[in-house]
Amino acid sequence: MSTEFTFQLLAEDPTCGARVGRVTTPHGSFETPIFMPVGTQASVKALTQEDLRDIDAQVILGNAYHLFLRPGTEVLEQAGGLHRFMNWDRPILTDSGGFQVFSLGKLNKVTPDGVTFQSHIDGSRHHMTPERAIDVQLSIGADIIMCFDECTSYPATHKAASESMRMTLDWAARCKSAKVRRCEGVKIIGEESTPVVANPGCALFGIVQGSTFEDLRRESAAATVAVGFPGYAIGGVSVGESKEEMVAAVEWTAPLLPREKPRYLMGVGPPEDFLEAVQRGVDMFDCVMPTRNARNGSLFTSTGRLNIKNQQYRTDFSPLDESCDCPACKRYTRAYLSHLYRAGEISALRLNTLHNLRFMLNLAAAVRLAIRAGRFLEFKREFLHGYTGA
Ligand SMILES: [Zn+2]
Repeated sequence: MSTEFTFQLLAEDPTCGARVGRVTTPHGSFETPIFMPVGTQASVKALTQEDLRDIDAQVILGNAYHLFLRPGTEVLEQAGGLHRFMNWDRPILTDSGGFQVFSLGKLNKVTPDGVTFQSHIDGSRHHMTPERAIDVQLSIGADIIMCFDECTSYPATHKAASESMRMTLDWAARCKSAKVRRCEGVKIIGEESTPVVANPGCALFGIVQGSTFEDLRRESAAATVAVGFPGYAIGGVSVGESKEEMVAAVEWTAPLLPREKPRYLMGVGPPEDFLEAVQRGVDMFDCVMPTRNARNGSLFTSTGRLNIKNQQYRTDFSPLDESCDCPACKRYTRAYLSHLYRAGEISALRLNTLHNLRFMLNLAAAVRLAIRAGRFLEFKREFLHGYTGA
């Protein structure tokens, strides 16, 4: 196990902001742009880790809020960290849980110190601070951990977005010093026991907020970079804003982030949005949409999205997508997948999920090739032509 987190810039497309890089973590490396499947509760829904290896997922997401509430950090500590618990030896990124605290839990109180909330599972009360969110993530042992932030709700007034963004900034500095202290084993006076640090070589990413306001996005980017992190995320997107607003947030923010550090767009997105953000220099992506859609029968193909439960697929004996190499496409027909879905078979969820994820992973791989060849914009045009008919 290497211990250094690094990012190497391998290629930049001369015609736009798209770039290829390599992220190295204590659990191995992956090339960017990358799509990261979401495994909120230590599981990518409907799949096993063997399935994830089969479709060659390089890095997956876990969520600190969910894992903190269930199974709880004591279980993860006893298991020797999340990697061992779920038997996944490749990189893991954990979201700090800020988004979930604000969106899922019943909020009791937000103060500059932190957030008091009630669990969405059993109603138990918890107090989450930036320091506590770091401790939770360190005991989970992910390779990339995230600052505890307030994901500004949408829409927000300029004043509310500004106050929220400033609190996230204060919390970013507190997260950074908490992480450094823990990973260097500094004792905190008055503390009875020190939490377990399962993966001391992990990297903490800062998160840029600022909602849909250009001045706030710029201020947040500059100030977050001034705190100094090995990677940066663009947060507060995929919260109900329009596609144009999401793209604008990326356009304002990405150029202000250091060229030699990875950039992560949180919660985005469908293939079209993925390409827009890659073009503007984003390296890492996660989104529940490919997996959630799969479970609803909505599947990506190179000729567009289709719903497998539609009547026309009942007798369509062609593969789901001719150009896909996933188990669902290589071994079965649209007619069979349609039947499994209609019959409510569990295997439909698994096969559909394998396909949508493999589709996103293949898209990311094709994007990397195109960037290396200096033809990303051409690739994007060709892909969208097939995908949307545009
Ligand atoms: Zn497929």
